[in-house]
Amino acid sequence: MADQPVGPLDSLRYPRYAGIRTFARLPTLEQAGRADVAILGAPYDGATSFRPGARFGPSAIREASVLLRPYNEPLRMAPFAEAQVADAGDAGPDPIDVGAAHAAIQAAAGDLHAAGARVLGLGGDHSVALPFLRAAAERHGTLSLLQLDAHTDTWDEYYGHKVTHGTIMRRAAEEGVIDPRASLQVGLRGPLYAETDLEENAELGFNTVLAREFELERVVGAIGATLRPPVYVSFDIDCLDPAHAPGTGTPEAGGLTSREALSVLRSLVALDIVSADLVEVSPPYDPAGVTANAAAAIAYDLLSLLVRSSRR
Ligand code: MN
Ligand code: MN
Repeated sequence: MADQPVGPLDSLRYPRYAGIRTFARLPTLEQAGRADVAILGAPYDGATSFRPGARFGPSAIREASVLLRPYNEPLRMAPFAEAQVADAGDAGPDPIDVGAAHAAIQAAAGDLHAAGARVLGLGGDHSVALPFLRAAAERHGTLSLLQLDAHTDTWDEYYGHKVTHGTIMRRAAEEGVIDPRASLQVGLRGPLYAETDLEENAELGFNTVLAREFELERVVGAIGATLRPPVYVSFDIDCLDPAHAPGTGTPEAGGLTSREALSVLRSLVALDIVSADLVEVSPPYDPAGVTANAAAAIAYDLLSLLVRSSRR
Protein backbone atom coordinates (compact mmCIF):
# COMPACT_ATOMS: atom_id res chain seq x y z
CA MET A 1 0.00 0.00 0.00
CA ALA A 2 1.32 3.40 -0.95
CA ASP A 3 0.53 5.07 2.38
CA GLN A 4 2.02 2.27 4.52
CA PRO A 5 4.91 3.63 6.59
CA VAL A 6 8.40 2.60 5.51
CA GLY A 7 9.81 0.82 8.56
CA PRO A 8 13.28 0.02 9.85
CA LEU A 9 15.42 -2.70 8.25
CA ASP A 10 14.40 -6.16 9.46
CA SER A 11 17.25 -7.30 11.74
CA LEU A 12 16.30 -10.96 11.21
CA ARG A 13 17.22 -10.47 7.52
CA TYR A 14 19.88 -7.74 7.64
CA PRO A 15 22.31 -8.09 10.61
CA ARG A 16 22.35 -5.12 13.01
CA TYR A 17 26.03 -4.38 12.51
CA ALA A 18 25.66 -4.05 8.74
CA GLY A 19 24.65 -1.00 6.76
CA ILE A 20 24.82 2.77 7.14
CA ARG A 21 23.67 4.11 10.53
CA THR A 22 20.32 5.81 10.85
CA PHE A 23 18.42 5.92 14.14
CA ALA A 24 16.94 2.42 14.77
CA ARG A 25 17.84 1.53 11.14
CA LEU A 26 14.95 3.69 9.95
CA PRO A 27 14.83 5.12 6.45
CA THR A 28 16.33 8.53 5.89
CA LEU A 29 13.85 11.35 5.33
CA GLU A 30 14.88 11.31 1.66
CA GLN A 31 14.10 7.60 1.35
CA ALA A 32 10.77 7.86 3.19
CA GLY A 33 9.72 11.01 1.34
CA ARG A 34 7.79 12.34 4.34
CA ALA A 35 7.70 12.03 8.13
CA ASP A 36 5.14 12.22 10.92
CA VAL A 37 8.05 12.07 13.35
CA ALA A 38 11.57 13.10 12.33
CA ILE A 39 14.84 12.57 14.17
CA LEU A 40 17.31 15.42 13.75
CA GLY A 41 20.88 15.40 15.10
CA ALA A 42 22.43 18.60 16.44
CA PRO A 43 26.12 17.75 16.88
CA TYR A 44 27.22 20.95 18.60
CA ASP A 45 29.03 21.26 21.95
CA GLY A 46 30.59 24.72 21.77
CA ALA A 47 28.42 26.10 24.59
CA THR A 48 29.44 23.60 27.24
CA SER A 49 31.12 24.76 30.46
CA PHE A 50 33.07 21.67 31.58
CA ARG A 51 33.70 18.39 29.71
CA PRO A 52 33.07 18.59 25.95
CA GLY A 53 32.31 15.73 23.54
CA ALA A 54 28.53 15.95 23.10
CA ARG A 55 29.11 16.82 19.43
CA PHE A 56 29.65 13.06 19.05
CA GLY A 57 26.34 12.30 20.77
CA PRO A 58 24.09 11.87 17.73
CA SER A 59 26.39 9.34 16.05
CA ALA A 60 26.86 7.33 19.30
CA ILE A 61 23.11 7.25 19.96
CA ARG A 62 22.47 6.06 16.39
CA GLU A 63 25.15 3.38 16.80
CA ALA A 64 23.55 2.11 20.04
CA SER A 65 20.03 2.30 18.56
CA VAL A 66 20.58 -0.62 16.17
CA LEU A 67 19.51 -2.95 18.97
CA LEU A 68 16.03 -1.40 19.26
CA ARG A 69 13.13 -3.60 18.20
CA PRO A 70 9.88 -2.55 16.51
CA TYR A 71 7.42 -3.24 19.36
CA ASN A 72 7.34 -0.92 22.39
CA GLU A 73 6.02 -3.30 25.02
CA PRO A 74 5.38 -0.92 27.98
CA LEU A 75 3.60 1.59 25.74
CA ARG A 76 1.83 -1.21 23.83
CA MET A 77 2.52 0.14 20.39
CA ALA A 78 4.54 -0.44 17.24
CA PRO A 79 5.72 3.11 16.59
CA PHE A 80 7.27 2.50 13.17
CA ALA A 81 4.10 0.81 11.86
CA GLU A 82 1.70 3.44 13.26
CA ALA A 83 3.33 6.46 11.66
CA GLN A 84 6.13 7.38 9.30
CA VAL A 85 9.26 7.88 11.38
CA ALA A 86 12.42 8.92 9.53
CA ASP A 87 15.96 10.04 10.27
CA ALA A 88 16.48 13.55 8.92
CA GLY A 89 20.24 13.41 9.48
CA ASP A 90 22.16 16.17 11.23
CA ALA A 91 21.79 19.91 11.12
CA GLY A 92 25.19 21.20 10.05
CA PRO A 93 26.10 23.63 12.77
CA ASP A 94 29.14 25.89 12.85
CA PRO A 95 31.45 24.21 15.43
CA ILE A 96 32.67 27.57 16.76
CA ASP A 97 29.95 30.22 16.69
CA VAL A 98 26.97 29.50 18.94
CA GLY A 99 24.68 31.96 17.13
CA ALA A 100 25.40 30.45 13.73
CA ALA A 101 25.11 26.91 15.09
CA HIS A 102 21.75 27.62 16.68
CA ALA A 103 20.48 29.34 13.52
CA ALA A 104 21.32 26.23 11.46
CA ILE A 105 19.59 23.92 13.95
CA GLN A 106 16.51 26.14 14.19
CA ALA A 107 16.22 26.34 10.39
CA ALA A 108 16.51 22.57 9.95
CA ALA A 109 14.01 21.85 12.75
CA GLY A 110 11.72 24.61 11.44
CA ASP A 111 11.58 23.00 7.97
CA LEU A 112 10.52 19.69 9.55
CA HIS A 113 7.81 21.34 11.68
CA ALA A 114 6.58 23.31 8.64
CA ALA A 115 6.18 20.02 6.77
CA GLY A 116 3.98 18.77 9.63
CA ALA A 117 6.49 16.53 11.41
CA ARG A 118 7.07 16.23 15.15
CA VAL A 119 10.76 16.58 15.84
CA LEU A 120 13.04 14.56 18.14
CA GLY A 121 16.36 16.40 18.46
CA LEU A 122 19.55 14.57 19.44
CA GLY A 123 22.31 16.73 20.96
CA GLY A 124 24.78 18.10 21.33
CA ASP A 125 25.13 20.07 24.55
CA HIS A 126 21.94 21.38 26.16
CA SER A 127 22.28 24.74 24.40
CA VAL A 128 20.81 23.08 21.28
CA ALA A 129 17.48 22.80 23.09
CA LEU A 130 17.05 26.55 22.56
CA PRO A 131 16.81 26.39 18.74
CA PHE A 132 14.71 23.21 18.97
CA LEU A 133 12.33 24.98 21.40
CA ARG A 134 12.18 28.09 19.22
CA ALA A 135 11.33 26.04 16.12
CA ALA A 136 8.59 24.14 17.98
CA ALA A 137 7.12 27.34 19.45
CA GLU A 138 7.12 29.00 16.03
CA ARG A 139 4.82 26.24 14.84
CA HIS A 140 2.77 25.47 17.98
CA GLY A 141 2.93 28.58 20.20
CA THR A 142 4.23 28.96 23.75
CA LEU A 143 5.29 25.58 25.08
CA SER A 144 4.80 23.74 28.36
CA LEU A 145 8.20 22.23 29.20
CA LEU A 146 9.07 19.00 30.97
CA GLN A 147 12.82 19.16 31.67
CA LEU A 148 14.61 16.12 33.06
CA ASP A 149 17.96 17.42 34.27
CA ALA A 150 20.36 17.57 37.22
CA HIS A 151 20.54 21.33 36.59
CA THR A 152 18.02 24.12 36.23
CA ASP A 153 19.82 25.66 33.22
CA THR A 154 18.30 28.96 34.32
CA TRP A 155 21.52 30.72 35.34
CA ASP A 156 21.83 34.15 33.76
CA GLU A 157 25.29 33.85 32.17
CA TYR A 158 28.57 31.95 32.11
CA TYR A 159 31.80 33.87 31.58
CA GLY A 160 29.75 36.79 30.31
CA HIS A 161 27.92 34.66 27.72
CA LYS A 162 24.13 34.61 27.72
CA VAL A 163 23.66 31.51 25.53
CA THR A 164 25.33 28.45 27.07
CA HIS A 165 24.19 24.97 28.08
CA GLY A 166 23.49 26.29 31.60
CA THR A 167 21.41 29.35 30.67
CA ILE A 168 19.05 28.31 27.87
CA MET A 169 15.91 27.75 29.93
CA ARG A 170 16.10 31.32 31.26
CA ARG A 171 16.48 32.57 27.68
CA ALA A 172 13.53 30.43 26.51
CA ALA A 173 11.39 31.85 29.34
CA GLU A 174 12.43 35.45 28.53
CA GLU A 175 11.55 34.95 24.86
CA GLY A 176 8.12 33.51 25.70
CA VAL A 177 9.07 30.28 23.96
CA ILE A 178 8.15 28.39 27.14
CA ASP A 179 5.76 29.26 29.96
CA PRO A 180 7.70 28.52 33.18
CA ARG A 181 4.49 28.33 35.23
CA ALA A 182 3.39 25.46 32.99
CA SER A 183 6.86 23.89 33.15
CA LEU A 184 8.32 21.23 35.40
CA GLN A 185 11.96 20.32 36.11
CA VAL A 186 12.67 16.84 37.50
CA GLY A 187 15.95 15.48 38.88
CA LEU A 188 17.65 18.69 40.07
CA ARG A 189 20.57 18.17 42.45
CA GLY A 190 24.20 18.89 43.19
CA PRO A 191 26.06 21.82 44.69
CA LEU A 192 24.88 25.28 43.60
CA TYR A 193 26.67 28.60 43.16
CA ALA A 194 24.56 30.20 45.89
CA GLU A 195 21.78 29.49 48.37
CA THR A 196 19.49 31.62 46.19
CA ASP A 197 19.89 29.63 42.92
CA LEU A 198 16.76 27.52 43.40
CA GLU A 199 14.81 30.53 44.75
CA GLU A 200 15.63 32.49 41.60
CA ASN A 201 14.56 29.51 39.50
CA ALA A 202 11.24 29.43 41.38
CA GLU A 203 10.82 33.19 40.97
CA LEU A 204 11.04 32.69 37.20
CA GLY A 205 8.00 30.43 37.67
CA PHE A 206 9.49 26.94 37.23
CA ASN A 207 8.00 24.02 39.17
CA THR A 208 10.46 21.41 40.42
CA VAL A 209 10.83 17.93 41.83
CA LEU A 210 14.39 17.62 43.18
CA ALA A 211 16.26 14.32 42.77
CA ARG A 212 16.17 13.76 46.55
CA GLU A 213 12.37 14.23 46.47
CA PHE A 214 11.95 11.73 43.64
CA GLU A 215 9.01 9.38 43.90
CA LEU A 216 7.19 8.34 40.77
CA GLU A 217 3.73 9.20 42.19
CA ARG A 218 4.95 12.65 43.17
CA VAL A 219 6.32 13.29 39.67
CA VAL A 220 3.15 11.99 38.01
CA GLY A 221 1.10 14.29 40.25
CA ALA A 222 3.28 17.29 39.38
CA ILE A 223 3.04 16.47 35.65
CA GLY A 224 -0.75 16.40 35.89
CA ALA A 225 -0.85 19.66 37.85
CA THR A 226 1.65 21.57 35.68
CA LEU A 227 1.83 20.50 32.03
CA ARG A 228 -0.74 21.52 29.41
CA PRO A 229 -0.64 21.26 25.63
CA PRO A 230 1.49 21.85 23.63
CA VAL A 231 4.16 19.96 25.60
CA TYR A 232 7.89 19.83 24.86
CA VAL A 233 10.13 17.27 26.64
CA SER A 234 13.80 18.16 27.10
CA PHE A 235 15.84 15.22 28.38
CA ASP A 236 19.33 16.05 29.66
CA ILE A 237 21.03 12.66 30.11
CA ASP A 238 22.69 13.98 33.29
CA CYS A 239 19.34 13.64 35.08
CA LEU A 240 20.43 9.99 35.31
CA ASP A 241 22.91 9.05 38.00
CA PRO A 242 26.51 8.82 36.69
CA ALA A 243 26.28 5.07 37.38
CA HIS A 244 23.66 4.93 34.60
CA ALA A 245 25.07 7.70 32.40
CA PRO A 246 28.76 8.40 33.01
CA GLY A 247 29.27 9.77 29.51
CA THR A 248 28.12 13.32 30.03
CA GLY A 249 29.64 16.75 30.48
CA THR A 250 28.52 17.71 33.98
CA PRO A 251 27.87 14.54 36.03
CA GLU A 252 26.19 14.83 39.45
CA ALA A 253 25.91 12.01 42.00
CA GLY A 254 22.52 11.07 43.43
CA GLY A 255 20.49 10.94 40.24
CA LEU A 256 17.67 8.89 38.74
CA THR A 257 18.09 5.32 37.61
CA SER A 258 17.33 4.64 33.96
CA ARG A 259 14.30 2.62 35.11
CA GLU A 260 12.94 5.62 37.06
CA ALA A 261 13.45 7.98 34.12
CA LEU A 262 11.77 5.58 31.68
CA SER A 263 8.84 5.26 34.11
CA VAL A 264 8.42 9.05 34.04
CA LEU A 265 8.37 9.04 30.23
CA ARG A 266 5.80 6.25 30.11
CA SER A 267 3.49 8.29 32.34
CA LEU A 268 3.27 10.94 29.58
CA VAL A 269 1.29 8.79 27.18
CA ALA A 270 -1.91 10.88 27.33
CA LEU A 271 -0.16 14.22 26.68
CA ASP A 272 0.04 16.08 23.38
CA ILE A 273 3.82 16.27 22.88
CA VAL A 274 4.88 18.30 19.86
CA SER A 275 8.65 17.95 20.09
CA ALA A 276 11.42 16.62 22.32
CA ASP A 277 15.17 16.51 22.65
CA LEU A 278 17.81 14.27 24.22
CA VAL A 279 21.08 16.04 24.97
CA GLU A 280 24.46 15.96 26.75
CA VAL A 281 25.54 12.43 25.73
CA SER A 282 29.35 12.69 25.55
CA PRO A 283 30.84 9.49 24.03
CA PRO A 284 34.49 10.23 24.96
CA TYR A 285 33.47 9.75 28.63
CA ASP A 286 31.41 6.67 27.83
CA PRO A 287 33.98 3.92 27.26
CA ALA A 288 31.54 1.00 27.74
CA GLY A 289 28.70 2.63 25.81
CA VAL A 290 26.46 2.62 28.91
CA THR A 291 25.24 6.15 28.34
CA ALA A 292 24.57 5.75 24.63
CA ASN A 293 22.65 2.55 25.35
CA ALA A 294 20.43 4.35 27.89
CA ALA A 295 20.04 7.24 25.47
CA ALA A 296 18.85 4.95 22.66
CA ALA A 297 16.17 3.50 24.98
CA ILE A 298 15.08 6.98 26.08
CA ALA A 299 14.98 8.22 22.48
CA TYR A 300 12.84 5.20 21.54
CA ASP A 301 10.27 6.09 24.19
CA LEU A 302 10.36 9.77 23.25
CA LEU A 303 9.72 9.01 19.59
CA SER A 304 6.98 6.55 20.56
CA LEU A 305 5.28 9.33 22.54
CA LEU A 306 5.61 11.65 19.54
CA VAL A 307 4.06 8.98 17.30
CA ARG A 308 1.18 8.55 19.75
CA SER A 309 0.66 12.34 19.82
CA SER A 310 0.78 12.60 16.02
CA ARG A 311 -1.94 9.91 15.66
CA ARG A 312 -4.40 11.79 17.89
MN1 MN B 1 22.34 19.00 33.26
MN1 MN C 1 20.81 20.69 31.07
